[in-house]
Amino acid sequence: MISHATYIRLSLFLVACAALVAVILSRRTAPYGRYAQSGWGRLVDPRWAWLIMESPAVALMIVAGIAGRSGGVTPYVMLIMWEIHYLYRTFVYTSRMRPGGSGFPVSLAVMAFVFNTINGLTNGYAVFGTPNAYGVAWMMGPRFIVGALLFFAGLSMHVHSDGLLRKMRAVNGSEYRIPYGGAFRYVTCPNYAGEILQWIGWAVATWSLAGFAFAVFTIANLAPRALGHHRWYKERYPGYPENRKAFIPFLL
Ligand code: NDP
Repeated sequence: MISHATYIRLSLFLVACAALVAVILSRRTAPYGRYAQSGWGRLVDPRWAWLIMESPAVALMIVAGIAGRSGGVTPYVMLIMWEIHYLYRTFVYTSRMRPGGSGFPVSLAVMAFVFNTINGLTNGYAVFGTPNAYGVAWMMGPRFIVGALLFFAGLSMHVHSDGLLRKMRAVNGSEYRIPYGGAFRYVTCPNYAGEILQWIGWAVATWSLAGFAFAVFTIANLAPRALGHHRWYKERYPGYPENRKAFIPFLL
């Protein structure tokens, strides 16, 4: 397990990366999915890219749980929350992706792998690194209760939205059409909105620097991409629902 000083440095490093990512992604969209383009080096099957780049997050929280100093049940409840998301994203989500798809750049997958390694280490330390940081009373406190509610609301929203997109792929093949149903009624990217809500919930539930850094990074990464998707649909589909926002209902 990492030292406390390394934990602080790595978490602050992720916050700094988030600022850089927000600037870069507000000028150009990350080149995968509908924005896939040549010039980003070798491409791999997106299913393998997602599986490999998310796996450090699955493994490192479990390693932290085994090696950790923090006793009691609360850190293990947090571990279960974390693993529900990452087991879904790493194994269930990838198993539902269509074979082949548009290629995923290896360079991007390596960056995501490094991010997930650092993020798994820092969040593992936040949950298990400090003795008695989270007693049973923490789970009865307002931060954990509000955070866990936001976490599971966000998780349900992005899993449901991922499912609607999957169904569209099954019916329409590689063609993009306007998604309808669920939270797509309000926003173009409920999958991103759900993911952002979920990690804000995690930050509140753990009340940790690592959780805060992850939430900030997720917003920096997904907010520009949601705005990009929104523009992309509006440019291509003249009948795109007028009242639909990018990722914050009624606002943005
Ligand atoms: P997208 O919304 O771009 O795509 C999700 C999937 O749905 C892709 O397989 C895509 O296919 C397909 N899809 C998208 N639009 C349509 C459509 N109109 N019709 C049919 N299929 C469609 O999401 P991302 O790939 O960027 O992200 C996937 C998940 O990962 C999301 O839930 C996101 O929240 C999460 N994520 C989290 C990050 C974080 O920082 N925490 C960072 C990045 C992603 P195709 O690939 O062919 O476009």
